[in-house]
Amino acid sequence: MRVTGTLLPSGERTELWLLGDRVTFTRPRGSVDTAATDLFLTPGLVDVHTHPGHDDAGVFTDGRFVEECAQHVAAGTTALRVPGHTAPVPAALRADPTLPRLVTAGRLLAHTGLATGHPMHTPTDDLVAAALAEATANDGWCKIVADWEHDRPALPSALVRAVVDAVHAHGFRVAAHCQTAAGTRVAVECGVDSIEHGWYLTDDLIERLAARGGAFVPTATAFLPMVDDVRTKPEGPRKDYFLGGIAGLPRAAAVAHEAGVAVLAGTDSAPFGNVVSEVEFLLAAGLSPTVAIGAASWTARDYLGLPGLVEGGLADLVGYDVDPRLEPGVLRHPRLVVLRGRVTAPQRG
Ligand SMILES: [Zn+2]
Repeated sequence: MRVTGTLLPSGERTELWLLGDRVTFTRPRGSVDTAATDLFLTPGLVDVHTHPGHDDAGVFTDGRFVEECAQHVAAGTTALRVPGHTAPVPAALRADPTLPRLVTAGRLLAHTGLATGHPMHTPTDDLVAAALAEATANDGWCKIVADWEHDRPALPSALVRAVVDAVHAHGFRVAAHCQTAAGTRVAVECGVDSIEHGWYLTDDLIERLAARGGAFVPTATAFLPMVDDVRTKPEGPRKDYFLGGIAGLPRAAAVAHEAGVAVLAGTDSAPFGNVVSEVEFLLAAGLSPTVAIGAASWTARDYLGLPGLVEGGLADLVGYDVDPRLEPGVLRHPRLVVLRGRVTAPQRG
């Protein structure tokens, strides 16, 4: 299958071919179907923080997973990192070529000391063993809860460090939920790879995260819709904490990108297939269109180890009628979505 257009982020005019699940820039022998011409092409989009398949009680069902994954694909999101799911994703779904590529982290692990009670969380007494087991059984990632209530202590640093050391010793990576100043600090200082939410991420922590190639996933899409409601709540430390945490995200995203942190797009919320919302947040935070789009595409793919539109790369792409760097609104209206070398129906509307 042949596709021509302008490749992002380079801006080069290109002609490429999809051979099965691979990309090549060398015309293959034999007959070729042209899927599209003259589009603006990005590697398939990525949502690096999404939990498809769960109801409000945290119950995972295959049917719901398939449905919510289909919403991602329709929007051009061809790869997902799933930082926490309450049941293993069945092998048959992982192998389904119509579903996005998955990078799963297994159960979302909450040390019993935090007593979160959240339906998505799995309590554990032995966070180190559980984290290593999930990273091993999944795609080289585990996910831990570093803090929960704003007025309760975060995990002790010795415990977070023990998790990180054990997981890194096997070449795997750790993502951590952190939404308090103490939790974000302990996660960054102890070497967590991917900082999820990252409220109260300070400049000194950003420097440390950048120095070791860490990632920051603000998930502002999950929080911004809550702000109006929170403003109506009684005054007090909880309200201040909540509004302060959200208010700090745009600046933290901008400073983190400048410092060299991989700032990545994750939604952590319904509707599924809405990663463009996080691109819009990053644009509003002052990141350039190329950087903001990259956070949901080539930068995220690099970080997860999913090659994009390079020779031998994976055959996932999205095509747009106009340059999304100039008109980011077009990101919501892909003309062409290709997943694993197959054209899927583009989203309309
Ligand atoms: Zn989440």
